[in-house]
Amino acid sequence: MSNHKIKFETIGLKPEASYLALPSVMYMCLKLKETFRSSLVLFNTALSDRLGLDFSQLSDQEISGIFSGNIEIPGTAALAQAYAGHQFGRFTFLGDGRALLLTEHITPDQKRVDIVLKGSGPTPYSRGGDGMATLGPMLREYLISEAMAGLNIPTTRSLAVVKTNRKVRRETDLEGAILTRIASSHIRVGTFQFAIAEGGKSVLKALADYTLARHFPDIDVNQPYLELLNEVIRRQAKLIAQWQLVGFIHGVMNTDNMSICGETIDYGPCAFMDVYDPKTVFSSIDYGGRYAYVNQPGIAAWNLARFAETLLPILADDPFYAQSLAQNAVETFLPLFRKEWVSGMRKKLGLFNAEDADESLIDELLSVMQKAKSDFTKTFVRLTTDISGLEADPNFSDWTVKYKLRRTHQIQTIEQSVELMKTVNPAMIPRNHLVEEALKQAVENQDMSYFEHLLDMLRQPFAYSEEQLHMDKPNDQMSQPYRTFCGT
Ligand code: AMP
Ligand code: MG
Repeated sequence: MSNHKIKFETIGLKPEASYLALPSVMYMCLKLKETFRSSLVLFNTALSDRLGLDFSQLSDQEISGIFSGNIEIPGTAALAQAYAGHQFGRFTFLGDGRALLLTEHITPDQKRVDIVLKGSGPTPYSRGGDGMATLGPMLREYLISEAMAGLNIPTTRSLAVVKTNRKVRRETDLEGAILTRIASSHIRVGTFQFAIAEGGKSVLKALADYTLARHFPDIDVNQPYLELLNEVIRRQAKLIAQWQLVGFIHGVMNTDNMSICGETIDYGPCAFMDVYDPKTVFSSIDYGGRYAYVNQPGIAAWNLARFAETLLPILADDPFYAQSLAQNAVETFLPLFRKEWVSGMRKKLGLFNAEDADESLIDELLSVMQKAKSDFTKTFVRLTTDISGLEADPNFSDWTVKYKLRRTHQIQTIEQSVELMKTVNPAMIPRNHLVEEALKQAVENQDMSYFEHLLDMLRQPFAYSEEQLHMDKPNDQMSQPYRTFCGT
């Protein structure tokens, strides 16, 4: 597409490429080339506004040209990032095999973000893969990442989805698509694993310094790398607690899918739990249940231990001392996670103050829920909106007596307690069967109306509208367990 008429200056994008300052082993520059005629499926105007971008002077075709990599915005320098990762416990060299960092951009509140295309074609890191993505999974990432943002959980965001109008060969021929992802950065635990394995200590140090400057500029300069480790541990403890508190199962917590800045990244086989069962797994390839709901905190600790290992050469000159610093830091993760989780659970129960017996009250609720096969989200909605149903339920009646007594141990009123609960117990989550229905209509019938409606509902999960409460039902008709598939 000819781009001489496009008013690029009206977009307000200030192209930046700070990643290019890293040693060149960490990335490969790529030239964009026009290859196909794309069309715009979704564009996130609210997010674009927040980023300080304005595409209103451009036609849909021009926008889709930009977000498919067919039209190059002057001044941008596209690159693919190198990284490694433990995938299901096995170490592998990876890299952006189907993603492209189009440019960095500074938002109006002076935050640096990456603008990345996912599914934009092969890169030097594609390892035989086609570099493509298909429409269903890209729409799924858009929907679920926006739902996570609505839930106030740190996440990468989705700016656009374009159709490439090319078939992508999977088990059958599928519609090709590209998602535009916005992230505070794409630096992962796996990026550090790559740096030390491929580049050695000097590259590792350059990456650590870059990460500190980009994400943790206020860190104590006396022990910067130890503080980097501690800060990543703190952010992950918060993040994983937030996942657990809404029943989110990431599904593929490989070290290349753990972001250093603490955002949820890589929406492949993720899904939300319906019935409360700690062993819930959705991913079709997670045979051993490694990434089951209950295992997420332990896996995060394992991933952080891998991160700590990468930092050993720069933590201290004495390897034994470095080892002990790393170990002590990693051991803080599970207690920190538990603290975040308990404090989140208190809010879900409308409790403002802390009492020693709260943890057993919480544990007891969860074991009743598990025994009664209760829906995770709905149980908290019932507690929030009308506890009488639970009081009348023989499974919950004993527990509700204790709970109501506990709620009298605070000065806040029941109304205040309910208000608090309504800020943390979503009235609606991306229910698997609703998501499937929306994707089916979008992909098979090219009808985006249900998808857009669902997206609207999920963007404000704490609105507690009648429609949300009605729509958010588990699907009792599902004949077999729900299964998700990795980035197809
Ligand atoms: P993911 O499961 O999306 O985290 O991807 C794991 C690795 O496989 C990353 O290095 C991806 O870039 C790469 N990858 C996934 N799908 C493809 C594909 N279709 N073509 C090339 N590389 C891919
Ligand atoms: Mg990934």
